[in-house]
This record gives sequence, C-alpha cells and structure tokens, in this order.
Amino acid sequence: MATRSIAFTEVGDGCHAYLQGDGGWGWSNAGLIVGDGTSLLVDTLYGLDLTAAMLQSMTPITNVAPIDTVVNTHANGDHCYGNEMMGTATVIASLATAEEMPSVTPALMAGLNAAPGEVGDLFRSFFGEFNFDGIELRLPDQTFSGRLTIDVGGREVELIEVGPAHTAGDTIVVVPDAGVIYTGDILFIGGTPVVWAGPISNWIAACDLMLASNCDTIVPGHGPITDKAGVREVRDYLAFVETEATAQHAAGIDAFDAARALAAALGTHATFGDFGEFGRITVNVDAVYRDLDPTYQTPDIIEQFRRMASIEHP
Ligand SMILES: [Zn+2]
Repeated sequence: MATRSIAFTEVGDGCHAYLQGDGGWGWSNAGLIVGDGTSLLVDTLYGLDLTAAMLQSMTPITNVAPIDTVVNTHANGDHCYGNEMMGTATVIASLATAEEMPSVTPALMAGLNAAPGEVGDLFRSFFGEFNFDGIELRLPDQTFSGRLTIDVGGREVELIEVGPAHTAGDTIVVVPDAGVIYTGDILFIGGTPVVWAGPISNWIAACDLMLASNCDTIVPGHGPITDKAGVREVRDYLAFVETEATAQHAAGIDAFDAARALAAALGTHATFGDFGEFGRITVNVDAVYRDLDPTYQTPDIIEQFRRMASIEHP
C-alpha cells in the first residue's frame, strides 16, 4: 500500500478536518465540529480500521467533548462504512441518503474485491487497498429533508440537503459562526467530480449556494482544504461537461464516444487538465444523457468502472 499523508487539523474555530492524502478513490475526508462538552462528526470512513485510526487521533478533543452526533453527507461507503464504530452517537442523514445506503453494502464490495478474473482485477484496481470484510452497515437513526439546524454544545450547525447531485441525497454541513462548510462529495479538489445521480443543474446550484454564503473555509469530501476558488473550479467543470455533453447528444454521438472525446478535450484544458480520476467523465456524460433523455439506459456498475479504467489506461 502506498503511504498516505493523513492529517487532523483545525481549520476554523472549533472546526477540524481529517484529511486522507490526495483524496483518490475511497480516500475521503471527515470533519469534527466541537461545542461545549459535545462534538459532531461529519462522516465516517471506508472501513473499520480507517475509522478507528481517525477516532484515535481525535481523542485529545473527544475525551472532553465526546462525539454525540454523526452526520453522513451521503450514501457512498467512504462516508458511512465506519458508522458501526460510533456507539451511542445519533447518526443523522437526509432521508434520500438513508434510503440509498443499503443499495451498495460492504458485503457486496467485499465480494467484488475478492472476485476472480477480470471483474475482481478491475475492482481491486480501484478499491484493493480497502478492507470491507465483516462491516455491519449501520443506517442513520434520524433523517431529515431540506434543512435541519442542530445545536452542538451551544453552537448552531446547519445541514442543507442539496441533492440529488453526486448521489441521491447529498448534504452540506455549514458552521456559520466559524465560516466553515463541510461539503461531502459536492466538492472533489484535485480529483474529478463524479455525477452518480445528477442532474448536474442541482450540483451547480449547490456550488452557487456556497459561493453566495459568508463561508470561505471549505472542507471537500476528497482532497485538500479549499475556499471559494475551489468551489468555482468545480462549478466550471460541471458547466463545461453539461454544455459539451449536451452538444454531443444533439449530434447523435454515442455516450461512450462522447466521453472519450470530452476526455481528450479535458486533458489539454488549462484548469481541468490536472484533475485526477479523469475517467469519471464517462459517468458524467451518462448523467447528462439521462437528463436529456429519460429512456437512456446507463450501463451497469461493472461496465461503468470498465469504461473509467479504459479512458485512464487506453
Ligand atoms: Zn467520497
């Protein structure tokens, strides 16, 4: 396994971020918001070992202000597979996230990672560093739709549902008194956003909401801490993909052919050319095509990963 730089750092008054390296596939960030005698954890990690290490690094704070609340920003396993480690804390997510969570279980991921042949090799090339064995998926205890304001030891924390966008029920977590937003996977910094659900217009609206806020310290779901410039970059990428994929669709181009054409254009782009995981363009083109034509059939998940791999390693 490659060595990853793990950092636990204070990014604003009583607002901390747990950052896992370059934020590639499965290497997600989490957050800790500390109030008087209690804390709120934003997301668990992609397994029990990773989550245990994170909780250990937080103990100087959580010994005094224990984690009584956990928010899952969305249903992807790298943001919720550690939930069973959270004891008596109340786990909160949007209703759409809670409903989506059982669709990709740790057992399914463990099976794909252990599969023989081409499919197993494919999934191991993305997720082989993670251990999904024996994880019990713990679903949220409490759900909400729209907005929910929580009191965390005397400070206000606002949950805002901005999905469906990256997934069915994305939530951003805003701490107004510190000017901090934890975005979950509404922001990938240094990597390519992946539009599993869409529509892209919802995701662009979520970026606009953050740009209009008074917060300028922004913790993405993957990659380093950013500010509004990082939000603008993601917004610009999404707008570019929406415009270009719409033109390809209008010209009657097959979705995978369109994705390959866009990958070539993105590769030489001044801003987006450096984004990691650029094969995700194929999933993003599918999202635009689905939005334009509800009868469009998205390939199954195995084929989606095959296509992403083939774009990145032609
Ligand atoms: Zn993620």
